[in-house]
Amino acid sequence: MAVDIIRISHLVKEFKTANGVVHALDDVNLSIRHGEIYGIIGLSGAGKSTLVRCINYLERPTSGDVFFDGVSLSQMKERDRREVRRSMGMIFQQFNLLEQRNVLKNVCFPLELGGMKRVKAEARARELLNLVGLADREKAYPAQLSGGQKQRVAIARAIATEPRVLLCDEATSALDPNTTESILNLIRDINRTLGITVVMITHQMSVIEAVCDRVAIIDQSRIAEEGEVQRIFSAPQSKIGRELILGGDVRQEEFGASKKIRVTFDGRSAFEPVIANMILGCQLPVNILFAATKEIGGQAAGQMVLQLPENEADAMKLIHYLRDRGVNLEEVKNSDF
Ligand code: ADP
Repeated sequence: MAVDIIRISHLVKEFKTANGVVHALDDVNLSIRHGEIYGIIGLSGAGKSTLVRCINYLERPTSGDVFFDGVSLSQMKERDRREVRRSMGMIFQQFNLLEQRNVLKNVCFPLELGGMKRVKAEARARELLNLVGLADREKAYPAQLSGGQKQRVAIARAIATEPRVLLCDEATSALDPNTTESILNLIRDINRTLGITVVMITHQMSVIEAVCDRVAIIDQSRIAEEGEVQRIFSAPQSKIGRELILGGDVRQEEFGASKKIRVTFDGRSAFEPVIANMILGCQLPVNILFAATKEIGGQAAGQMVLQLPENEADAMKLIHYLRDRGVNLEEVKNSDF
């Protein structure tokens, strides 16, 4: 079987700051296959940008390693690392175009840096502008373009040197939904027609759903879960996965490290009044993490997983309320529910 194009192994990245050490990545392991579109999703501050900057070694990992086509980046000479970096194009949320250069010159820039003669570089840049649908704007300056057009120029520039991987860091986060769709379509076309592997960093689940084959969900510096997009979307296993996919505000302060209970309804009682009355009666909040219930003739069958407040006395008050009313419940010890 072919070697994965990128393999990240036990990657740790710490930043030493005036306020102590920040653990941006903590034992991250993942593999990206040749030709796929791989998503990395997480909330702000989860570690996504740090991860992508470690992938191309703009950031040196504290420990662990990154393998490109099976070769360890940490063991490589700096010259070879530069070569690997050149085979990874990158686009950003803020486009990062050179404002003083027109569109054509922006796309020529990496080619000329690589030593290509001007005439040849311009011919190649024109091909690329044609590919991204901007053939008629080569003389425009970035300030004269829309956000979507700027990102098209950035994509043309990123793939000018024929990279094998395109790293997209929140590439559509500054764009409206229609423009996002057109940019995602362009990225997918480039992936399919040029065979460029794409790594898509985003905080938007819709982006993952639209174009990615596989996804890693990163939460608080660690991979919470990873796999085929379809599988993760249909049955997220992690708390953060459920939060991102099913919505809801699971991460409220009072629910930090609190107890979770599974409440089972066997059809003898209606679950809504039980839960509603419990919340009203106890004057305490609960968080519904999971519910699989069916109403049959006004009676509920199924189960719910509730997260209780962190305060132990409050949690016990809720548990006693349910027990007193004969509701079946058990404590859930891990996130597998
Ligand atoms: P994301 O891209 O998911 O928003 P980041 O990778 O930017 O997350 O950040 C992860 C964590 O690392 C955050 O707590 C952030 O403040 C911290 N961090 C990132 N870069 C640096 C840095 N150069 N110095 C100190 N802390 C950093």
